Amino acid sequence: MNYQNYEKMDLQGSVLRIQKSSIFDGDGLRTVVFLKGCPLRCQWCSTPESHHKSIQTTIDGSITYGCIMTVEEVMVEVRKDIPFYFHSGGGMTVSGGEILTQSEFAYHLVRRACWEGIDTCIETSFYGDWNKIEPILRCTNTAFVDLKLMDPENHKKYTGVPNDIILSNIRKAGSKRSSMKLIIRRPLIPGVNDSKKDLELLGNFLAELPGVDHLQLLPYHRLGTDTYRKLGLTYQLPDIETPSKEHMEQCACITNKYVRTII
Ligand code: SF4
Repeated sequence: MNYQNYEKMDLQGSVLRIQKSSIFDGDGLRTVVFLKGCPLRCQWCSTPESHHKSIQTTIDGSITYGCIMTVEEVMVEVRKDIPFYFHSGGGMTVSGGEILTQSEFAYHLVRRACWEGIDTCIETSFYGDWNKIEPILRCTNTAFVDLKLMDPENHKKYTGVPNDIILSNIRKAGSKRSSMKLIIRRPLIPGVNDSKKDLELLGNFLAELPGVDHLQLLPYHRLGTDTYRKLGLTYQLPDIETPSKEHMEQCACITNKYVRTII
């Protein structure tokens, strides 16, 4: 295959890291391309090194986060694992940060992988223009979309941005069934977004959307807090424990009345 003539192969993006053989970011074994840049500031975020699009170093200068790569350079890494995709049903996942911060780069990654017959998956908050999301979805097999809070004030308080754009984009993507699998994810943060009221609102909202395959609840964890210290930042959430299996099941019981829920 002549990769050299492919459109936009030289387009550059800011890549945090490329992780091989992930089993948590879509079907099978995945190569996950983490992009830098995110307009949200979720107080529980475990990857503060992904917030800025620019390359960053720790305050002691010992670690550098991110590098500039072209679409082709990323694809060289992705192609190395094609045999594993074939045997496991895996492929490439583009994640963040927030991939819409570099929507053109994200689009050309999924478009190119699609063109090469590699399964494509994205992880996004949908905080961006629909005009930029829609072309990406056309080249995507599975989309994981985070919906962190239904209550608008709490969404703004805990993530730094309003949720009206996110809700509107989820409505557009989920309004009808399509060949793309749409999975909504909620990271469950005890005391922040695990109230019966917010989970009922979430279930009600998703029940209206036939294009949503299922809801996935993810337990809060405290990974990444050390990175805040290394970057000279303060982790904003007080001590919160990872929710127990029983609590996860209770929350799933609430949303399962409206939408198939997986924990
Ligand atoms: S959207 Fe993701 S990367 Fe961005 S701040 Fe929230 S948890 Fe962190």
